Amino acid sequence: TVAAKLETSSIANKSQDEEDKEEKASADASLLKKLLRSRLEEDNSAIEIERQNPDSPLYSCKKFEDLNLKQELLQGLYAMGFTKPSKIQETALPAILNDPPQNLIAQSQSGTGKTAAFSLAMLSRIDTNLNYPQALCLAPTLELATQITDVVKKMGQHMKNLNIASAIRGNRMPRNIELREQVVIGTPGTAFDWSCSRVNVLSLKKLKIFVLDEADVMIDQQGHQDICIRIVKGLPRDCQVLLFSATYKNPVIEFAKKIVQNPMIIRLKRSQEALSYIKQFYVRCESFETKYRSLTNIFGLLTVGQSIIFCQTRKTARDLVVRLTEDGVPCELLSGELEVTQRAACIQRFREGKCKMLVTTNVTARGIDVDDVNLVINFDLPLNENMPDYETYLHRIGRTGRFGKSGVAINFVDTNTMHILDKIAQHFGKPIEKLDATDPEQIE
Ligand code: ADP
Repeated sequence: TVAAKLETSSIANKSQDEEDKEEKASADASLLKKLLRSRLEEDNSAIEIERQNPDSPLYSCKKFEDLNLKQELLQGLYAMGFTKPSKIQETALPAILNDPPQNLIAQSQSGTGKTAAFSLAMLSRIDTNLNYPQALCLAPTLELATQITDVVKKMGQHMKNLNIASAIRGNRMPRNIELREQVVIGTPGTAFDWSCSRVNVLSLKKLKIFVLDEADVMIDQQGHQDICIRIVKGLPRDCQVLLFSATYKNPVIEFAKKIVQNPMIIRLKRSQEALSYIKQFYVRCESFETKYRSLTNIFGLLTVGQSIIFCQTRKTARDLVVRLTEDGVPCELLSGELEVTQRAACIQRFREGKCKMLVTTNVTARGIDVDDVNLVINFDLPLNENMPDYETYLHRIGRTGRFGKSGVAINFVDTNTMHILDKIAQHFGKPIEKLDATDPEQIE
C-alpha cells in the first residue's frame, strides 16, 4: 500500500505539473499557429450572431471597398494580399467600424481572420496627427503581442506618422514621460504597470478602442483576468471594447461578459462536415504493449501518406517515439518540452513532407495544418477531467479530412475508455466501427 500511495501521489503531482505546462502550451500552440500559417482557413462554418437589439439592421460586407476605409488602409490590405473579407470579417467589420462604436465579442477558430479584423479596427479608429495612445491591444504572451505588432505595422505601412509602442516585458519606460505612440500593443502585466502603477506612462483616458485577443488563452494565465478587469475599469466610458477568442467555454463567456458591455456576439461555428469525409474506427487495446502492437500492425498493412499519433501525456508520447525509433520506424516527437522555435521547425519538416509520422500530445498539435495527413491515431482518447473532449477530438480528426479529402481515424480504447468512445460517436452522430488490428483484410 505504501508503494501504491507513493505512486498515486506522484501521479497527482505530475498532473498538476502537466497542467501548468499545458497552460503555457496553449499560448505556445497559438503562437506556433501564427508562425506557420500560410493562408486563411475558410470552410463552410455557420455564423451565429447575438445582439442586444435584434431589430437593428445588420450589415455584411463582401468587399473591403465598401467599408469607407481610409485610402492608405486599403492600400495596406492590398499590400498584404487581401482581396476580400474573410467570413468573420464580413460580419464583424461593418459592426466594429460603424459609429457609434459597437462593442464585440467574436469567437472563431484560429486562422479565420480575427487578428486582421481588429488590427484594421484599431488603425481606422486612430488619428495619426495626434500623438498619444488611442488604441490598446493586449495578448497573453510577449510573442503573441509581437505577432500582432507585425500585422498592425504591415497593415499600416502606408499611414503617415503611425507609431506603435510595445508594452512588453523588458521594455522599460522612463517615469512620467507619457507615450506618444497612437497604438500600444502588449501583455496585461506590462500594460498595467505602465498605466495603473506609479510609472504612469500610458494614459487610458483618451483610448478610443481596447482589444483583448486570445481571451481563452489569457484566462488560463494566472492574474491576467484580474489585470484585464482593472484596465477596463480605467477606460473612458465611450471606449470601444473588442474581445476575441478561439473557444467559447463557460469561463471565457463569463470573463467576456465582465469586460464587454452590451456586446454584439459573433460566433463562427466550425462545421462538423469535416467528419463526413473521415472513416472512424476503434481498436480494443488494454495496455501500452497492445496499443504498440496494433500500431505497428496498422502501419505494416496500410499505405499511409502522413500520419499524426496523439497521446494524452508527454511521457506516453516520449515512450512511443523511443520504441518506434528502436524498431527503425522514422518518426518525430512534437512535444511541449521543445522550445517554440524547435517545435516550429518540427512542424515545418512535417508540412514539407520530410517527416511522415508525428507523435504528439494534445495542445501542442492544435496549430498543425497539413493537407496530406490521411491517418490520425488516437493512441489515447482526448479527455478533459475524465470526460470526452469533443472539441479536441474534432480538432485532431479534422486534420485528416481537410477540403473534402478522405481520411482515416483510428482510436485505441480499453475497458475504461470504451464509454468515452460511445459518447464521442453519439455526440457527432457518426458511427465509429470496430477494427481488428490483426486482420489484414479488414484493415485494407
Ligand atoms: P486569426 O487571428 O483568427 O487566427 P488571422 O487574422 O491571423 O486569423 O488570419 C489568418 C491568416 O489569414 C493570416 O495569414 C492572414 O494574413 C490571412 N488573412 C486574414 N484575413 C484575410 C483576408 N481577408 N484575405 C486573405 N487573407 C487573410
